Amino acid sequence: MREDPYELIILGGGPAGAAAGVYAARKQLATLLITKEFGGQSVVSPDIQNWIGTPHISGQELAEAFARHLREYADEVLTIVSGKEVVRVDVDASLITVELATGESFRAHTLLYALGARRRKLAAKGADQFEHKGLTYCASCDGPLFAGKDVVVVGGGNAGFESAAQLAAYAASVLILEYNDTFNADPITVEKVLAQPNVRAQTNAEVVEVFGTNLVEGVRWRDRRNGEEHTERVAGVFVEIGTIPNTDLVAHLVERTERGAITIDPWTGKTSHPRIWAAGDCTNVRYHQNNIAAGDGVKALEDIYLSLRAR
Ligand SMILES: Cc1cc2nc3c(=O)[nH]c(=O)nc-3n(C[C@H](O)[C@H](O)[C@H](O)COP(=O)(O)OP(=O)(O)OC[C@H]3O[C@@H](n4cnc5c(N)ncnc54)[C@H](O)[C@@H]3O)c2cc1C
Repeated sequence: MREDPYELIILGGGPAGAAAGVYAARKQLATLLITKEFGGQSVVSPDIQNWIGTPHISGQELAEAFARHLREYADEVLTIVSGKEVVRVDVDASLITVELATGESFRAHTLLYALGARRRKLAAKGADQFEHKGLTYCASCDGPLFAGKDVVVVGGGNAGFESAAQLAAYAASVLILEYNDTFNADPITVEKVLAQPNVRAQTNAEVVEVFGTNLVEGVRWRDRRNGEEHTERVAGVFVEIGTIPNTDLVAHLVERTERGAITIDPWTGKTSHPRIWAAGDCTNVRYHQNNIAAGDGVKALEDIYLSLRAR
């Protein structure tokens, strides 16, 4: 491992961090990339169909491809630290310091922050109590346990509809409950998923309780238009209600939105701190997709390169 300071530290091995890492190495920037794991959030997806140039790829294959591509450059200019967690980021007069849970710390002149986002938890009564007892945040991981059973998906965005599509293949029935009065998922996805005979969906539905004894036995939801409460007897509850940006580590350093997303200049990926850039789902960009995160990682890297080499 090189004596620090590095020119650049990249945090994250999802599409934003991985894409930036490849570009950084090709531009010969002395770079350290740190990530808990490769691939990012869609690593759990069995079939990603919109990674450009690849009609079908599993999340696991995507993660392996990222790691393989980055390792092409490892040891030359790019140092990779994977399987470790970043716990602290600080800046002094001239350098950025990144500290890991292991106690190791590294310094660099610039930082690209790409730690993505994590799942938003369901706030309904009983949701915590029944997590892993019928309530889950990963349809592709836990779905097969619910073969032949009735299940609910909470959330009518793309992730909710994709989960419903997977579940429909083996569950007896799938009910999608959406809080708002319209679905956020792409119309083509909504149409395709609702064409399945065992899938139905309900808008304006607020889940108020997950109930059961040892395992989930059902949910109660309130119709937000008239306040009426309904009970669904289901064995599984799959929660897909969005994400929370992983930005706590730089809360004291950069401007964030109310939602906690890092505010960036969309032209460059620059944050409010002159030596910190950010890309992907941890930022305030409107759309969250693998291709967008990768492109934004590259865009930020181009700007970092200019800022370093124009000094
Ligand atoms: C279930 C699901 C399915 C999806 N399917 C699709 C799809 O089919 N097509 C599509 O385009 N998009 C899909 N998305 C969206 C897509 O996954 C995200 O937009 C994309 O992953 C964002 O990339 P990112 O690099 O910004 O962050 P992330 O993917 O969130 O990556 C963040 C990285 O940071 C690392 N990390 C986080 N915290 C730390 C820490 N403290 N220390 C060290 N490392 C850390 C993580 O290990 C991870 O590698 C899906 C999302 C989900 C949740």
